[in-house]
Amino acid sequence: MTRLVVVANRLPLTIRRIGARWQAVRSSGGLVSALDPVLRRGDGIWIGWPGETPDGDAPGRTAELERWERDHGLIAVDIPRHVGRAFYEGYANDTLWPLLHGFPARAVFDPGTFLAYRDANERFAAVLADRVRPDDDLVWIHDYQLMLLPALVREAHPGARIGFFLHVPFPAPEVFRVLPERAAMLEGLLGADVIGFQTHEHLAAFRRTLQQVLGIDSRMDGVDVGGRLVALEARPIGIDPAPWEALARSESVRRRVAELRGTTGRRTIVAVDRLDDTKGIPERLRAFRHFLGTHPEWRGRASLIQVAVPSRERVPRYAALRREVNELVGEINGALGSADWNPVVYLRRSIPQPEIAALYAAADVCWVGSLRDGMNLVAKEYVACQGDGAGVLLLSEFAGAASEMGEALRINPYDEAGTAAALERALAMPEDDRAERQAALLARVRRNSAFAWAERSIADLEGVGRRNGGPSGVLRQPSLPAIRAAFEAAATRGCYLDYDGTLVPIAPRPVDARPGPDLAPVLRSLVAREATTVLIVSGRRASELDAWFGSIDGLWLAAEHGALIRAPGGGTWEPLQPGAVADWKARVRPILEYFLDQAPASAIEEKEYSLAWHYRLVEPEFGDWLAGNVAAALEEQVAGTALSVLRGSKVIEVRFAWATKSEAVARIRAAAGQPAFELAAGDDRTDEDLFEALGEGAWTIKVGSGPTGARTRVATPSAVLALLAALGTVPAG
Ligand code: UDP
Repeated sequence: MTRLVVVANRLPLTIRRIGARWQAVRSSGGLVSALDPVLRRGDGIWIGWPGETPDGDAPGRTAELERWERDHGLIAVDIPRHVGRAFYEGYANDTLWPLLHGFPARAVFDPGTFLAYRDANERFAAVLADRVRPDDDLVWIHDYQLMLLPALVREAHPGARIGFFLHVPFPAPEVFRVLPERAAMLEGLLGADVIGFQTHEHLAAFRRTLQQVLGIDSRMDGVDVGGRLVALEARPIGIDPAPWEALARSESVRRRVAELRGTTGRRTIVAVDRLDDTKGIPERLRAFRHFLGTHPEWRGRASLIQVAVPSRERVPRYAALRREVNELVGEINGALGSADWNPVVYLRRSIPQPEIAALYAAADVCWVGSLRDGMNLVAKEYVACQGDGAGVLLLSEFAGAASEMGEALRINPYDEAGTAAALERALAMPEDDRAERQAALLARVRRNSAFAWAERSIADLEGVGRRNGGPSGVLRQPSLPAIRAAFEAAATRGCYLDYDGTLVPIAPRPVDARPGPDLAPVLRSLVAREATTVLIVSGRRASELDAWFGSIDGLWLAAEHGALIRAPGGGTWEPLQPGAVADWKARVRPILEYFLDQAPASAIEEKEYSLAWHYRLVEPEFGDWLAGNVAAALEEQVAGTALSVLRGSKVIEVRFAWATKSEAVARIRAAAGQPAFELAAGDDRTDEDLFEALGEGAWTIKVGSGPTGARTRVATPSAVLALLAALGTVPAG
C-alpha cells in the first residue's frame, strides 16, 4: 500500500520542558491541515525538527518523542543547537530566503553556515534512510530548508519516488547564480522525480537557471537527467477555506464585525503580514500616505488596519524594519490624524484566528503588497471570510497568488502613485462589480483548496513511475551480463564508438576534450579480443584522431563523421567518396563569419570536408536562438547540392550528405563482413543515423539525456568505459 512520507523542516508539534517534564503539543498550520487527511488515510508519517534541541541528554524528551512517533507517526530529526542556528537562522533565513525572494543585496554569504545547512540536510537523510520503504513510499520533501535532501535520499534509495515542493519563489537566474553553492543546490533538487513550484514564472526561472548553471536543457514539463525524467510542475498551494468560512459566519465573529464597522460609516482596509521585509509594509504605508495626500476627501473616512506578526526577531535586518515601520506609522498618524480618527491602526503582535477572521470579514479592502511572495495565503483567507460579501482584494503582482487571482486589483507595490490610485479605485468601485469579482475569487479559492493541491501533487508523484515507463520517458540501462553473454557467444564482433561525449566528457572547448588515461588501455584490450572490429567514428579531424589513437594497432578510425576512414595497421586516410572536395567552402564561410560577428563567443572550425560553427560558449538562450537562424541561412545556401546542414550538440556543421557514421560502418562491413555482435554508443544527433541503420539486432547505447532511437541509455562516458572494459576482459574459466 502506498504510504506518504512528508518531510518538512518543522514537525507539526513543539516540544517543551515544563518543570521537570518534557511535553509536546501539536501545532497547526496550512501544510498540516492540507496533508492531514492524506496522512491519516495511508498510515503516513511526517519527519521534521521538533523544536529546540537540548545540549545534554534528556531521557524524558526522548520518551515523549517516541510516544509521538508511535501514536501519531511524527518522527523527530534532532539537530544540535550549534548546527541548528547556523542552518536555520543562518543559511536558510539569512542567505536563501532573501536570495530566493530576489534580494541578493540582503543575503549574507558565510561558508560556515552552508556547512551547517548540509549537515542538517544529512541528518534528515540519515533519519530517512532507515525509514523509507522504497516500494511503497512517496517521499514528499518541502521547501527551501531542505534543497539538498532529494539527492541525498536518491543516493540511499535509487528507486524511491521523491517529490519536492518549493513554497517560496524561485528567482531569476542572474539572482540565483549569485549563490556560491548554486550547483550543489540545483543538483540536490534534481534528485527528485517531481519538483513543484507555486507558479509558472518560478518554474521558468528554474529552467533558465538549470541551463545557465548546469548547462542542462529542459522542457516546460520536465528535464531529463542522465536518462531519469524529473517532472517540473506549477501547483499553487491553497488554503482550507471551510474553517475560515465557518468562523466568519459564526455568531461571535458577526458580533465582532458589527463592532468593528461601528456606526461612523468609515471604510476599513486590512493588511495582515509577518513583519518581514519581503511583505512591503513600508511601501504600503508610503502609498497610503500618498493616497491621503492626493485624495483628501478620504481623510477621516477610511482607516488602514495593519497587523504585523513579529518574526525572526533575532535577525538584525528585522529590527531595522520594525523601527522603520514604527516611524512611518507615527509620522502618518501624527501628521494626518485627528482626535477621532487614526489613519493607521498598527497591531504588532500575533492575533487570534477569530479576530483575524472578523477583520477580514469587516474590511472593505484587503491590501496585499508583497514585494515578492511564494503564494500569500492572506489573500485567499480574506476571500474565504468575505463569503458572499463584496470586499475588494488589492493584490501585488509579485505575490504567487496573483497568477491565479485574476479578479483582484493588481498593484505594483513599488509604484506609490499607481498603488494609491488602485486603492481609490477599490474604495470607489460599484457594489455589483465588487460582488462579481469576489464571487469568482471565492469559487477559485474553494476549488483550489489545500486538499486539492495535496491530492493533485501526490497523484503527480504517483504517476512518475508510469510516465518514466512511457515512450518519452527513461530507457532502461544496458544490462552488462546480457551484453557480455552476447559478446562472448558471437563468432565475430563489431564495436562502433563515437568520441566526444561518449568516450570523453564534453568540454567547453573541444581542444580540452582529450582522452583520459583509462581510454587507451580499454581500447587496446578490446581490440585484442579475437575477431573484434573496433571503430572510433567521430566528427573530429583526421589529424586529431591520428594523434590520440594512431598508435593503437588494430583500431579502425573514421574522421569528420565518416567522410574519411583509416583501416587498421597504420594505413592512410581514404575519403569515403573520392574527388568530392570543391569550392563550396568559399560560399559557406562568409555566412558563418557573419554569425561569428553576431556572437563573438562562437567559433568557426574548418575541416577537410566540412565547416562548422560552434556555439557552446555563447550565452545559452541567445546561442540556441541564433543557431536556428544559422541553420536556416545555411540550408538556403546548400539547397540542391550534395551538402547538408547538421545540427549537433552546440554545433552546426555543413558537410557532404554522404559523410555519415552509418556509411562508415557500411564500409567496414563491406570489407570484413557483418559481425554477429554489434554495439554502437553515441551521444549526438550524428549517432542517431547509425543507431537506426544498425536496427534492433544491435546493442545501441545513447549516452546522456535527450530523445534517441537507441535501445538503452547510460548517463556518462565513464559508464561507457566501464562497459567496454568488461568486454575487453577475457572471462575467467
Ligand atoms: N496569521 C497568523 N497570526 C496572525 C496573523 C496571521 O498566524 O496574527 C497567519 C495568516 O492567517 C496566514 C499566515 O499567517 O495564514 C501568513 O501566511 P502568508 O502566506 O500570507 O505569508 P507567510 O507568513 O507564509 O510568508
